[in-house]
Amino acid sequence: MKQTNLSIFIPHKGCPNTCSFCNQRFISGSERAPTPEEVRAVLASQVNILSQSGLKAEIAFFGGSFTAVDKDYRRALLYAASEYVKEFPEQYAGIRCSTRPDCIDENILDELKLYGVTAVELGAQSMNDEVLKANLRGHTAEDVRKASRLIKSYGIELGLQMMTGLYQDKPSYCLDTAREFASLKADTARIYPTVILKGTMLDELREQGVYESFSFEDTVDLCAKLLLFFEENNIPVIRLGLHASEGVEEQMTGGVYHQALGDIVKSRIMLMKMREQINRLGGRRFVVYTDKRNIGTVIGHCGENRDLLAEEGITFKIKEKSGEYLEIKAAPQKLKQ
Ligand code: SF4
Repeated sequence: MKQTNLSIFIPHKGCPNTCSFCNQRFISGSERAPTPEEVRAVLASQVNILSQSGLKAEIAFFGGSFTAVDKDYRRALLYAASEYVKEFPEQYAGIRCSTRPDCIDENILDELKLYGVTAVELGAQSMNDEVLKANLRGHTAEDVRKASRLIKSYGIELGLQMMTGLYQDKPSYCLDTAREFASLKADTARIYPTVILKGTMLDELREQGVYESFSFEDTVDLCAKLLLFFEENNIPVIRLGLHASEGVEEQMTGGVYHQALGDIVKSRIMLMKMREQINRLGGRRFVVYTDKRNIGTVIGHCGENRDLLAEEGITFKIKEKSGEYLEIKAAPQKLKQ
């Protein structure tokens, strides 16, 4: 059965920090935290929809630092969610939440375990202490390591989230962060290229001319490398880029945001794989054999791969071949491109 997340946003509540990039009001789209009754109503309304669509959902408390919100409120939310997991096990697979690495300890994990939380995602953002400090994260890379090991020791799934292009960041630091995620045995990862929002410290630094996030092109290249790395290390990347939201689009002043970022990065990975084979073969005209569902990725977002290769005088024709498959052969001499 296919699994999905039923996300319930718990905005800024309980967070004493002001990270350089964060403006929770715009990311979560609302400043008001839902009451436990409202959560119950959402969960009740989704039972039939999930049954009909053949999907099973994890109830996901995202948006802020869930383990740092008011204890009674948090427990009431967890209780409401746990009731639905017990009553509708075919529709609800478990509970997940996101939080800061320094808001995890044994007491919290005992509580999460008690209510049946199955996954915790940590907003690590970077494993470089200079980057963490420059962006006022208020925790260190060592906090991420400690929290990650503790979560794993409770048998809870570990998700690690990273950002690219923060103040003082470098692509090499992002690749180091991914390597650390793998050594911490992350079960899932999320990659968020930095989006600069109005009213944040990053926006001020941008206005002062002392900060610019990575360019769109550099971000696509970097994310392609990160995705490949996580794929090689069997770590599913469950999100790349912020979800589409009017709040983000209205409040964005810089950084990288594109509704089709995931597709663009996948196309870039395909281009990298194609180049490898093309370079090995040599020549200028090729036939690409690939599965029907990969054709769009081979051609690239808005034909980008085709255009980029054409600029180098390389052309290709696509032939369908079923399976997880990409093979490139030199085109026969007489083949018209
Ligand atoms: S810890 Fe999370 S919620 Fe708090 S300011 Fe930082 S990013 Fe925002």
